[in-house]
Amino acid sequence: MLEKLLSLLTFFAAAKKVSPAPDRGSANRPPRKQVPQKAKRTKTERCRQRLVLALLLCACAARAAPPLAVTQFAPGLYVHRGHDDIATRENKGDIANIGFIVGKRCVAVIDTGGTAEEGRELRAAIRAVTPLPVCYVINTHMHPDHIFGNVAFRDDRPQFVGSATLGEAEASHAESYLRVLRRELGTLADGSEIVTPTLVVESTKTLDLGDRKLVLRAWKTAHTNNDLTVYDEKSGTLWLADLLFVKCIPVIDGSVTGWLADIALIRQVNPRRVVPGHGPIDTPWPAALDAEEAYLANLARDVRAAIRRGETMQRAIDTVGANERDKWLLFDLYHRRNVTAAYAELEWEQ
Ligand SMILES: [Zn+2]
Repeated sequence: MLEKLLSLLTFFAAAKKVSPAPDRGSANRPPRKQVPQKAKRTKTERCRQRLVLALLLCACAARAAPPLAVTQFAPGLYVHRGHDDIATRENKGDIANIGFIVGKRCVAVIDTGGTAEEGRELRAAIRAVTPLPVCYVINTHMHPDHIFGNVAFRDDRPQFVGSATLGEAEASHAESYLRVLRRELGTLADGSEIVTPTLVVESTKTLDLGDRKLVLRAWKTAHTNNDLTVYDEKSGTLWLADLLFVKCIPVIDGSVTGWLADIALIRQVNPRRVVPGHGPIDTPWPAALDAEEAYLANLARDVRAAIRRGETMQRAIDTVGANERDKWLLFDLYHRRNVTAAYAELEWEQ
């Protein structure tokens, strides 16, 4: 594309140097109004500049990311539904539910996807909806499928917002997250990088998008030690991100008891609707939380019982929760790991 552009530019530069063809057979025509040479040149120059600009715009458009598919979940609140899978080359790392909320003054992005490219596509989806600036990029937690698209918004100069513990968690995982991303996605991971928070939330913080307030809340360690939710007052939507898994098995990278405690508090918020980090977005509130809560509660109960019986961690991994297999996607990938995490956490409490 660039080579073509350069050859066209060379062509136009050469064309400018060619003298106009001599006037033939003009004897019987009325004399043409003479245009001063300088004005002529200026007009030609302007034409040439316009052509160059048009060509440059074409070149940029050819490289622009296509807009990510989004659903208007509530007025001005858009969600992209990620694939119910782990990151692969086929799904290009697009596995998390991400999106944005539009106010009167500006836009807040909530999670940016698993790669720089997905972030660019999310940005294109925003531009298809509104010309308003992106003033906040909110990360709900540290996991790669939610943060690697941040870099696509850097030129917008937003505040990058996260829980007070997000920055440190990202820094300590950065190397392994990037290594795994490159291993799993190859060149699709190109350009992806971690952009750390510039605005942190200790407990709660309200962001105003212009006639639209978002209440951010940092939670006790649950899915991770840096979980953050976003409550959109205008639509009554609580964006739970990975504090809520629907159909896809919940993944414990924090604390099973902390998660259960958070769920009890989330129920008290009683929003009109919720957005899960993974799985279908149309599950009604409050039923959306039921399966996740039951899974975590049963896991904690059965692991405690195994510990009381003096069973080893390996025995617990082989037996606890096997009857849950048919209820969850990705069960074989994450359930054993969840039992391991719960065992390590609970063996010290009794
Ligand atoms: Zn996560």
